[in-house]
Amino acid sequence: MPSSFLPRVGETGADDLQLATLPSVDALLNHPELQAAVAKHGRGLVKRAIQRALAAIRKSLAAAGNEAGIARERLMRLIARQVDTDSLPALRRVINLTGTVIHTNLGRSPLPDAAVAALVAAARHPVTIEYDLASGERGERDHITEQLLCELTGAEAATVVNNNAAAVLLVLAALGSGREVPISRGELIEIGGSFRIPDIMAMAGCRLVEVGTTNRTHLRDYENAIGEQTAMLTRIHASNYAIVGFTKAASEQELGALAKARNLPFFVDLGSGALLPFERYGLPHEQLPQESLRAGATVVSISGDKLLGGPQAGIILGRRDLIEKIRKHPLKRALRCDKLIVGALEATLRVYRDHLDDPGHLAQTLPLLRLLTRPADAIRACGERVLDAAQQAFAPHAAVTLQASRSQIGSGSLPIDRLDSWSLVITPAGRRSGQATAAVVAALRQLPLPVIGRVKEGAVWLDLRTLENDEEFRAQLKHLALPALA
Ligand SMILES: *Cc1c(COP(=O)(O)O)cnc(C)c1O
Repeated sequence: MPSSFLPRVGETGADDLQLATLPSVDALLNHPELQAAVAKHGRGLVKRAIQRALAAIRKSLAAAGNEAGIARERLMRLIARQVDTDSLPALRRVINLTGTVIHTNLGRSPLPDAAVAALVAAARHPVTIEYDLASGERGERDHITEQLLCELTGAEAATVVNNNAAAVLLVLAALGSGREVPISRGELIEIGGSFRIPDIMAMAGCRLVEVGTTNRTHLRDYENAIGEQTAMLTRIHASNYAIVGFTKAASEQELGALAKARNLPFFVDLGSGALLPFERYGLPHEQLPQESLRAGATVVSISGDKLLGGPQAGIILGRRDLIEKIRKHPLKRALRCDKLIVGALEATLRVYRDHLDDPGHLAQTLPLLRLLTRPADAIRACGERVLDAAQQAFAPHAAVTLQASRSQIGSGSLPIDRLDSWSLVITPAGRRSGQATAAVVAALRQLPLPVIGRVKEGAVWLDLRTLENDEEFRAQLKHLALPALA
């Protein structure tokens, strides 16, 4: 029940409660009808729910005037509903049918089973997060994932932090603080939220030196920018937009060669972080960290929960001396991952390492890859299995059809790449008003297991690429309430 909720109150019936006769919080808390809720949810939660329900009722009764009353039964129902609402966690599971597979606001990548198991084990028990079992001495938490990361990417060394934004900050602070960092004007990007490259540079204590232009930056622009004070060369991948048309960017090979000739580190923030060639699965090519390293990058950073399909993490790969310098920086301690993440990341990387030559197995075992490679035919078949139930649930307020659509990978893949998919399209009956589609998406959000869709062209689209349990979805539709459309 939202805090603005005002319960309906009416004329006083014979046994109705009025403002002056509403029971006290304590009386209600000891009421036999609420004892099951107290046992299940705790006295504190039920007490708070009673307080909130009573406050709302008092407000309604006061607004309705002296004669107003509320039936005892209704009071108990309102409290029970408030208990239900309050017992839900703020971090709720949802069904993501937005058409964006890696949805940052919905928690990005689902984890492989092995990673979930490792995470739970690390949560329950003492683990060797910084303990060397062989010697019985203190260990280094990076060593848990470093070998795997090096095997998978060909890097000499690796370190892991909380997310890729942290990785970028740490690399710049460790390698560029107090000095100049040239960067192409086409790469002065905002990734999302308040993560903007110029701000991160300033935070890291680097002096940003803009080179080239928004659409064209040549190798000579970098050459001209390099001076005594230059700390490193950088390349930030444009992950959420594309510059098309009359464009030019110095290649990583060129930048790598220039950095080497001038004895400078070359940092590539790759962002997305696929570990294997996506074209193997008929997906758009995604640059791999191993490709950047081969091209001459000496440090590469990627996210753990984008295309890699693991937990949130920022993975820094590169030359041993540079990684050591990064690892020793004081910010590393502030940005490090906890044992749950280290465990989940290790398990995810092991899935890759142990099955690298079996693309089919990987596409089943890594949930993200499974969703991205799901054939359009299978998605359509899923749609046919849920269409009837959806039509019945929305009738007569809205018509539901199954239509071809396009999903996007999300978070770090070129925004222009799309995957063939199928969607349930819910079109409100009568006028195609924004209000009617808003009522549909709101009703879907209010399901016990909320379903998140997207409004497009006067209809609500539910992209079924990411619907793997259609039975669960059908069961949810039974709870649909569409008062705003009635
Ligand atoms: C996503 C992204 C980031 C930020 O990574 P998080 O893991 O979300 O912190 C930084 N740089 C690039 C190029 C990205 O795509």
